[in-house]
Amino acid sequence: MSTLVTGIGELVTCDGTGPEGLGLRHDAAVVVEGDHIAWVGSAADAPAADRQVDLGGSAVLPGFVDSHSHLVFAGDRSAEFAARMAGTPYDGGGIGVSVSATRAATDDELRALLRRRVDEMRAQGTTTVEVKSGYGLTVDDEARALRLAAEVTDETTFLGAHVVPAEYSGAPGARGDRAAYLDLVTGSMLEAAAPHARWVDVFCEPHSAHAFTEDEARAVLLAGRAAGLELRVHGNQLGHGPGVQLAVELGAASVDHCTYLSPADVDALAGAAGTTVATLLPGVEFSTRSPYPDARALLDAGCSIALATDCNPGTCYSSSMPFVIALAVREMGLTPGEAVYAATAGSALSLRRSDVGRVVVGARADLAVLDAPSHLHLSYRAGVPIARALDLSEA
Ligand SMILES: [Zn+2]
Repeated sequence: MSTLVTGIGELVTCDGTGPEGLGLRHDAAVVVEGDHIAWVGSAADAPAADRQVDLGGSAVLPGFVDSHSHLVFAGDRSAEFAARMAGTPYDGGGIGVSVSATRAATDDELRALLRRRVDEMRAQGTTTVEVKSGYGLTVDDEARALRLAAEVTDETTFLGAHVVPAEYSGAPGARGDRAAYLDLVTGSMLEAAAPHARWVDVFCEPHSAHAFTEDEARAVLLAGRAAGLELRVHGNQLGHGPGVQLAVELGAASVDHCTYLSPADVDALAGAAGTTVATLLPGVEFSTRSPYPDARALLDAGCSIALATDCNPGTCYSSSMPFVIALAVREMGLTPGEAVYAATAGSALSLRRSDVGRVVVGARADLAVLDAPSHLHLSYRAGVPIARALDLSEA
């Protein structure tokens, strides 16, 4: 079955051509064949198809690629957010609250929560989402989180090294110390997780006593690679640190947060452009009232950047890529076009995917449609629900 999509007032292809790489077209049409894009061009030249869908002049863009989320969790941490807004600083400790609630939830409860969050994302234009484990932190609970995540996405990430759980916070050398947890994460937990995961990730953050040092993070990443997983890193979130350099050294696909970067970090990311993407998560800075990363400096240095939500119960419980785009424009100095590119093609690169994040022949037919004439409205009309994934099966 082929579908001719017409009435596209503005088509953002993100094909890398033209200003900001947006590949803008006006009065465009797209032909979708099955689940792939078969043709892109001017409406006037459009070929015939089995059926036609007219979008009435709307803007269309690639569905958003949310390359960083933590959607498998139970429990509520809204009081922690309220306390933080009243002045309590974030140090990564509240993750333990989500761990307890997640362990206590049944498979069906977790599955229902996960699916509701994915649906919420899709309703706001997101068509690809990466989902991490990291609120189980036992062999069985991490494997379960990834098994459930794999029901909704191919982009599953083992994050057993999210924090050292409370039961491993004993004194060094004691039974149940952090070295014992590291052995578990790089041993039997990894073994149980790997069949359900594409990626391995680690919270490399010397500024949190709950997170992992450079040497611990390297051990986690190398063990993950040896088990066949590709690498991602949480780095440089709470202060200057080794995460970015480690990610570049190991050729990780992405280093995420990048809130505190030295000039040497920016140089390293520029040298690794196309290989290691700097994924910026401004919803976290918003929700923790922290300074925003210098996205402008990264782009001007030639780094590859992506935008994602980091949707999680602690530091950013927003699933909204349009909100992230608006923050990137308002708070991080990106143009609306640069922000859209980073949220689609840029984010796809951070997942090493070329079949999503762009509206080109052969790509997946993952389209977002706006109740607006132009992509500028995503940041111009912040907070207004104008974006949604285009569902051609309903049309
Ligand atoms: Zn995260």
